[in-house]
Amino acid sequence: MSSCKEKDMARDILRDIKKLGIKKEVRIMEVCGTHTQTIARYGIKNILPENIKLISGPGCPVCVTPASHVDLAIKLAEEEDVIITTYGDAYKLPGSEKSLAEVGKNVKIVYSVDEVIEMCRAQRDKEFVHLSIGFETTAPAIASVLLKNPELENFSIIPSNKLIPPAMQYLIKNDCKIDGFICPGHVSAIIGAKPYERIAKVYEKPCVISGFEAIDVLKSILMILNQIKNNISKVEIEYKRLVKYEGNKIAREKMDKVFKASNAYWRGIGNIPSSGLKLRNRFKRFDAPKRYKIKLKDAKEIKPGCLCSKIIVGNALPTQCKLFRKECTPYKPYGPCMVSVEGACNVAFRYG
Ligand code: SF4
Repeated sequence: MSSCKEKDMARDILRDIKKLGIKKEVRIMEVCGTHTQTIARYGIKNILPENIKLISGPGCPVCVTPASHVDLAIKLAEEEDVIITTYGDAYKLPGSEKSLAEVGKNVKIVYSVDEVIEMCRAQRDKEFVHLSIGFETTAPAIASVLLKNPELENFSIIPSNKLIPPAMQYLIKNDCKIDGFICPGHVSAIIGAKPYERIAKVYEKPCVISGFEAIDVLKSILMILNQIKNNISKVEIEYKRLVKYEGNKIAREKMDKVFKASNAYWRGIGNIPSSGLKLRNRFKRFDAPKRYKIKLKDAKEIKPGCLCSKIIVGNALPTQCKLFRKECTPYKPYGPCMVSVEGACNVAFRYG
């Protein structure tokens, strides 16, 4: 909050939150790691009434990417002489024994999947495998590339994209104490508001799709608390400047052409039904595990002493982990939540 106007707006929202007079404890989960950053950066937890608790959720894509997928990427880089491409924030993600950063050959950091396609075209004698992580935000880009380049013979992906609403439902069904959700803005720009309707109507959890400025988050908290005060539960969009109720139809159609929903393993949580994306039969040749006939093996997903499986579902704080700031830092992450700037432990390390 830099301008006087924003500070005045924040003061007004806080006054309205206090005016609601809610006395019971309310636990609001921010699902997305970018919201976790905003909340920490602007000290939002500290300015809310004490009974309003913000808890971080599983919406950091790097944190929930299974170690088995990292192990597979490492195996391909080391044994098959394949070039693995990955986004920078997954570079240090620990596998069972090591991360891609420790491989030393055949690993390249990219900013977008289009960059990988350029490499594929420039080096036809090399094979490239993209570690495809992320939520509904990154899946359309992968889908678009596969639709546009059906002829590419030296490109495949390790499909590790995940879907957010099934994970939210899973948390509720598994007794995570959550009274409302701050829903992710970027994911919702693609999927729209409809996929959260069931969470609001059936499970009676208010859902507000929020932007990423501090004022957006504060407004979203007020909107959730308003619903709780009035005993209603619905999906609202605070981030109207980017998110439409119907989402982005074109992006969704591309995703649907290329992927179908499947059960998926979330690191620190376990299997969540229909929460992953697998390639449709037409695109099977882009599926790296099938192409190289390698089976995903059981991996050391969470190492001893790491509390990520509790942190990811909002049942523990990074500061409760004995390794926090000691054996585990962003420079040498021991657990998955310390790797990406969106991970709860990384955020806690940087902002305290
Ligand atoms: S501080 Fe490191 S080891 Fe501890 S929970 Fe966080 S990521 Fe896991």
